[in-house]
Amino acid sequence: MTITRIGNFEVHRVSEYEGPFIEPHVFFPDYDPAVLKANPDMAGPRLVDPATGKLVFSFHSFVVKTGRHTILIDSCIGNDKPRPTRPQFHQIKSPFLADLAAVGVKPEEVDFVMCTHLHWDHVGWNTRLTNGQWVPTFPNARYIMARREFEHWQAFQKRGEESPHARAFEDSVLPVVASGQSVLVNDDYAFEDGLWFEPAPGHTPGNVVIHARSGENRAVFLGDVIHHQFQLMQPAWSTLACTDRELSKKTRTRLIEEYAESGMRLLPGHFPAPTAGKIVRKGDAFRYAFE
Ligand SMILES: [Zn+2]
Repeated sequence: MTITRIGNFEVHRVSEYEGPFIEPHVFFPDYDPAVLKANPDMAGPRLVDPATGKLVFSFHSFVVKTGRHTILIDSCIGNDKPRPTRPQFHQIKSPFLADLAAVGVKPEEVDFVMCTHLHWDHVGWNTRLTNGQWVPTFPNARYIMARREFEHWQAFQKRGEESPHARAFEDSVLPVVASGQSVLVNDDYAFEDGLWFEPAPGHTPGNVVIHARSGENRAVFLGDVIHHQFQLMQPAWSTLACTDRELSKKTRTRLIEEYAESGMRLLPGHFPAPTAGKIVRKGDAFRYAFE
């Protein structure tokens, strides 16, 4: 089991799914196969599944043990969730809670759940199905969410469209509001334990990255600013799932440049194991160097 240490913080990655997810031309509306042809080192099975041609994705949470608190960053897909337009993940039964227990965390021990954004694959385990009701999975946790993000999806859900995000808002966000466990914060919220949000809008309006600092050691939980390593050979590629593709491109390009320059340690939301690494320059573009 991989443990990443950020100073005194102990970070565990708990994966709910890792494998083929979606075709590149579907996920990236501007996808151009010529770019991949010009970058043959990006064609390996870790990036694209050879059998299906689909991009390989991991869906995982990070558990951060700060010494004072146990914090869950993003909460994956969740069990039993109706996601009819994402049949691969419709009403799944994953061993996520057993995997969480394997890194020494029982649901009642989680103090805070922090969501980088409120998409269906980042809020799922906020709740679980008990006696036909969606109830908070983590009974003693406060669920920290950016107010801007919450208000966007609240309005979206009220429009009544069939969408996994609207469904997730209903079954995975509203129940933690009803239980009084949600805390809506500014998108530059600073947390007492050396964790803070930085606004990273575009993928969603209130999307954030989460900084962690313990002593001299730093890292950034990147959420969905970059979904897949293909975006390092072409930072302009926003995704099907981005609310504002132009702003998403701007934020992504700016942060990729910044992290390549600073050598910041990164923990992206969908990169396969071992996930942690750094962005490095390669010619006019970039690559990812896993730790
Ligand atoms: Zn995601």
